[in-house]
Amino acid sequence: MRTPIIAGNWKLNKTISESVALTTSLKASVADVNNVEIIVAPPFTALAAVNEVIAGSKIRLSAQDVYSEDSGAFTGEVSAPMLKDVGCEYVIIGHSERRQYFGETNESVNQKVKAALAHDLKPILCVGEQLQEREAGQTETIIEDHVTGGIAGLSSTELLSCVIAYEPVWAIGTGKTATPAQAQEVHSFIRGLLTKIYSADVASQLCIQYGGSVKPENASELMAQPDVDGALVGGASLEAESFAQIVKFG
Ligand code: PEP
Repeated sequence: MRTPIIAGNWKLNKTISESVALTTSLKASVADVNNVEIIVAPPFTALAAVNEVIAGSKIRLSAQDVYSEDSGAFTGEVSAPMLKDVGCEYVIIGHSERRQYFGETNESVNQKVKAALAHDLKPILCVGEQLQEREAGQTETIIEDHVTGGIAGLSSTELLSCVIAYEPVWAIGTGKTATPAQAQEVHSFIRGLLTKIYSADVASQLCIQYGGSVKPENASELMAQPDVDGALVGGASLEAESFAQIVKFG
């Protein structure tokens, strides 16, 4: 059985004090939750403070991006050893906003995935089609390109340290959620692809999250789909109450 993973991506939001307040409140709200992996991804500046608040709790820490080199003359970047040092266990890689606004490509995503794994950080690899790609019937082609590009060269053990997040770009921050059937169709396609590349056994163990306007009202029907193993949540993770309700989707 795959343990569901619910992750909150705070994006470019929350000062240190706001991050501490949100995490403190979330920690209390999810104290009685079992069998769900709960992750928060604050901005870089708040990672250390949030790590102190979650100490001894079930909440895990993630960064929102990482650079592929460990150190050197790369002004403005943050490396995998630095994220490990501040307490991160996970890192989001290849989010559609990084692909869209910061020129992230399958190649850079793959390098980042490998850098994260080399330092024992678990990548949350984001993949997803844009609206015009879906309307042109290209969803599977795009997803295959993002998945195979992102995981290129990984062993099955390395793959199983990753999480894949299917995030249709047209559903991110728009209030338009994929229907449970649409999500299931793509999740099942991804698992089929991994079965071909690795094996049915490996594919059956990998956690595939859905992301795109997940809210307390739609979380349980999405999570009820056989291949939907969790959620990557943006907007609704900025309030402890709504994120805790999603964590308690069952
Ligand atoms: C995201 O940032 O990954 C996301 C899914 O955002 P939202 O939940 O706001 O659509």
